Amino acid sequence: MTGQLHTQRLLSRQYCRVFSVINSQIHTSSGLVAKDHYKVLVLGGGAGGITMAARMKRKVGAQNVAIVEPSEVHYYQPIWTLVGAGAKSVASSGRSTASVIPSGVTWVKSKVAVCDPRNNVVHTDSGKKISYDYLIVALGLELHYEKTGKRSKANIIYNTPLPKLFGVKKYADALWEIVKKRDININLRHNLIEVRADKQEAIFENLDKPGETKVYKYEMIHVTPPMGPPAVLKGSSLDDVTGWLDVDKNTLQHKTYANVFGIGDCTNLPTSKTAAAVAAQSAVLDRTVSQILKKKTPDKIYDGYSSCPLVTSYNTAILAEFDYDGQPLETFPVDQSKESRVMYHMKADFMPLLYWHGLLKGFWGGPGPLRTIMHLGMK
Ligand SMILES: Cc1cc2nc3c(=O)[nH]c(=O)nc-3n(C[C@H](O)[C@H](O)[C@H](O)COP(=O)(O)OP(=O)(O)OC[C@H]3O[C@@H](n4cnc5c(N)ncnc54)[C@H](O)[C@@H]3O)c2cc1C
Repeated sequence: MTGQLHTQRLLSRQYCRVFSVINSQIHTSSGLVAKDHYKVLVLGGGAGGITMAARMKRKVGAQNVAIVEPSEVHYYQPIWTLVGAGAKSVASSGRSTASVIPSGVTWVKSKVAVCDPRNNVVHTDSGKKISYDYLIVALGLELHYEKTGKRSKANIIYNTPLPKLFGVKKYADALWEIVKKRDININLRHNLIEVRADKQEAIFENLDKPGETKVYKYEMIHVTPPMGPPAVLKGSSLDDVTGWLDVDKNTLQHKTYANVFGIGDCTNLPTSKTAAAVAAQSAVLDRTVSQILKKKTPDKIYDGYSSCPLVTSYNTAILAEFDYDGQPLETFPVDQSKESRVMYHMKADFMPLLYWHGLLKGFWGGPGPLRTIMHLGMK
């Protein structure tokens, strides 16, 4: 995209937003008045964003750090696999965003609408313009449920015992539009009375004709939807040709803009996108930013560390750990490719604690030092 085209696109997107300005919602746990400029601005308050904000607070002071994040709830996503399996409750995966924002750091409760790295400025969907000295991008990724061509072959049925789609007409009308657009079949006054799991059948009674029942065949599938970079990065000049944030794979510094850095799922780092990777990246990025602040050259190198606990049963797991080259980078001096009860408890019980109390507080930078100790300095 040429510079001119880019500017036009930026402006047109921006004007839409400027004319629909509403009060931006800004929270500071310190009670300070929110500012329009921060030394360090963090985009996204997920695993990477909260972690880096906690680390940057220690470097430049809480009053100089802000996080742009729209969601009220912060989720520990890795536990969702166990939630799906019924081994953990969904409630255990979320905490209020307010509770994980490092104290004194400003929370700008909005979505990033436009990134303008040429002018060191970010625009939010509430019309706010925030400038920065240093930008850390931690926007995660987007799920693309719409992009596979399978939808037309699927019959989606929504049966409800209620006589309406929603109790309030205004929203019911809006929902009807949506279900029509998405080709979802609605059956009102249909009450589920039995599930025959062995035959994959659900039995509903028609409440308008008491005693009349109908059998619905169903299929249960577990889908990992296609994913892509956050839309706001595309065409922002922060992205590479595929749309992901274009950072140096060793230092996590942006390849074009020296005052921009990236962490986590939104980056084009050629490794598996995991919270474990975020942890290892946070230690490297911490060092990279420190060096840049001191006008020195970044010297710590990210090896691509990522990890996936592969849950193989309700009490066993394999802990896969590897680097950029797909080479095992195991922390413990045992063969981690063997199913193990200990690894299951690491995944189910220990890692959530490490996430909430270590990673998000900026104290856990991955198992590198532990690996060295465990292998008596040999790794
Ligand atoms: C089901 C599941 C199981 C997983 N299992 C594991 C596991 O076992 N181990 C593991 O290590 N990892 C696992 N992961 C991956 C891990 O959760 C992610 O890699 C990690 O959360 C990435 O952190 P992030 O900060 O890059 O993105 P996220 O944590 O997703 O945070 C991105 C944040 O950006 C915000 N945002 C998005 N767009 C905007 C915008 N325009 N403006 C402002 N804010 C915005 C979002 O609201 C979100 O809070 C799993 C993920 C899922 C979904």
